[in-house]
Amino acid sequence: MGVVKRPSPAALLDRDGTVIRDVGYLRRVEEIELLPRAADAIGLLRRHGLKVVIVTNQSAVARGLLTEAELAAIHRELARRLADGGAPLDGLYYCPHHPTEGWGAHRRACECRKPNIGLAKRAAAELHLDLGRCYVVGDQRSDMEFAARIPARGFLLQSDAAQRAAEAGIERFSLVKDLWEAAELIVEDMERKES
Ligand SMILES: [Mg+2]
Ligand SMILES: [Zn+2]
Repeated sequence: MGVVKRPSPAALLDRDGTVIRDVGYLRRVEEIELLPRAADAIGLLRRHGLKVVIVTNQSAVARGLLTEAELAAIHRELARRLADGGAPLDGLYYCPHHPTEGWGAHRRACECRKPNIGLAKRAAAELHLDLGRCYVVGDQRSDMEFAARIPARGFLLQSDAAQRAAEAGIERFSLVKDLWEAAELIVEDMERKES
């Protein structure tokens, strides 16, 4: 008889504007800048038993701005910095495509570009995640649409886009100041459900 391991709850985090500063199309390792308290927030989530996974659209690849090898180097450095800050990632998944921009094989409609949930499903299968107990944190409306499609509880970082979405009043999510505040609310929610 094998041990049946229960799938883990997870936090699916956007990359740009959520974990690191959004600089437009990030192309060089030197441009990586962790946002304040982001590593602390990831550490907090992990201590509470969540797996932490970055899910990010990187159409810079489709647009020919960087290669997948260059993107891999950026992600290795990001993972290293987070690990150094006591916040190792459980996974990082990206979509290199764009439906209409760029050229070649990466210019196509795909299932992995958020708000599609292809990457969430892949992460769930590979990392043994329970998508029924997962949370999404991001800074764009598309991140909240991604959350709704999973469906997962969404946390939208305050930004101009967040303000507009909130004013439109048509989406269900919690507005937060930063990833740390989202992490605190996620932990609270987990504890409430477990008690
Ligand atoms: Mg973003
Ligand atoms: Zn894709």
